[in-house]
Amino acid sequence: MSLDIWMFMGSIDAFEKEGADVILDRLQGASIGTILLGDLVFDGKPAYPAHADLYAGCETDPPGMPETNAPRLKVLQDAVTEARQRGLQILLHDWGQGAPGCISNPEKLLYGAARSRDVVLSFPEVDGFVLDGPEWGYEIEPGHRSDLFRCDCDHCRRLAAECGYDFDALLAARDRLRGRLRLLSSLPDGRRERGLVDGLDLFVADPDLLDWFRFKTDSIERYVSAFAEAARSLDPPRQIACGPRLPAFAPLTGYNFRRLSQIVDFQCPKLYFWQHGVDGLKGTLFRYVHTLCEWNPGLSEEAAFDRVRELFALWVPGVTGLDQLDAPLPPDFFATVVQSEIAKMRERIDDIGRIRPDKHTKRQ
Ligand SMILES: [Zn+2]
Repeated sequence: MSLDIWMFMGSIDAFEKEGADVILDRLQGASIGTILLGDLVFDGKPAYPAHADLYAGCETDPPGMPETNAPRLKVLQDAVTEARQRGLQILLHDWGQGAPGCISNPEKLLYGAARSRDVVLSFPEVDGFVLDGPEWGYEIEPGHRSDLFRCDCDHCRRLAAECGYDFDALLAARDRLRGRLRLLSSLPDGRRERGLVDGLDLFVADPDLLDWFRFKTDSIERYVSAFAEAARSLDPPRQIACGPRLPAFAPLTGYNFRRLSQIVDFQCPKLYFWQHGVDGLKGTLFRYVHTLCEWNPGLSEEAAFDRVRELFALWVPGVTGLDQLDAPLPPDFFATVVQSEIAKMRERIDDIGRIRPDKHTKRQ
């Protein structure tokens, strides 16, 4: 099987700076047949005009495109047209579809669907959409923007009730989980590896904890379904996809690959090979180990790495201390852990044609 490489073009002004011909020649010269385009902004302002009539029923007013962006929009539209004429596929990455606030707010679903219908009026040739989030948090570091233990807002309470959950029971289970993570240094001597059945034991003992995660998955599916319905109601219907975190972390964020396969056309799990930041890989390992050591006096970094490996089946070969994470990822990491994560994608989605790993690197 030949490698089908796609390219993410985050800076849409590249077409103005270099010319569409130059860029498209370069992409096609590298056998790239699909462009993932976005964010659709010029200098932070929308790159396409909003059609107010599409937002009836929405509380959020779509931002207007400044008149100064009109000639820039034309350059981008012409580039998209030329790319399609050359046979390239064009997918949108971020088209300003996110309304502010909690993902349980139904306004986000209405607004996102309206935004999707709107953007194809300016770019009728696009083939589909790749959602980058939203997601539930997956970090345990206190105050982190992707906090695992959020949210308890009124929208979440209403949605939980609608899905048949007792929201107060979910929050109590959440608090018990947070408490358990502070008891790792008092494990009995000799207790080492945990396995799948330990997880089963935990969820049978505390079914509300399982329901807390089920609620998150339900909410993500409602969100993604709203976009899928909008994309498929267009003429012609457009593709819809989403970009979950690394399989090791994705279930915490409410993404269940198997179930999402029933909703989306394909998925782009993230392989983010950079240190620190909100990344769902090395930085997340760092923060989990660091936080568990803070919460469990006496727990060594090496033991914390063991606990994290048990939780996620994720590790960096040879690393037993936090300062070692500053070194480049070793070749063994790619041969074992990355292979394993890709195998998880295949195991959970069970159709290689519907997996598009999203690889990002960043120079320090
Ligand atoms: Zn909420």
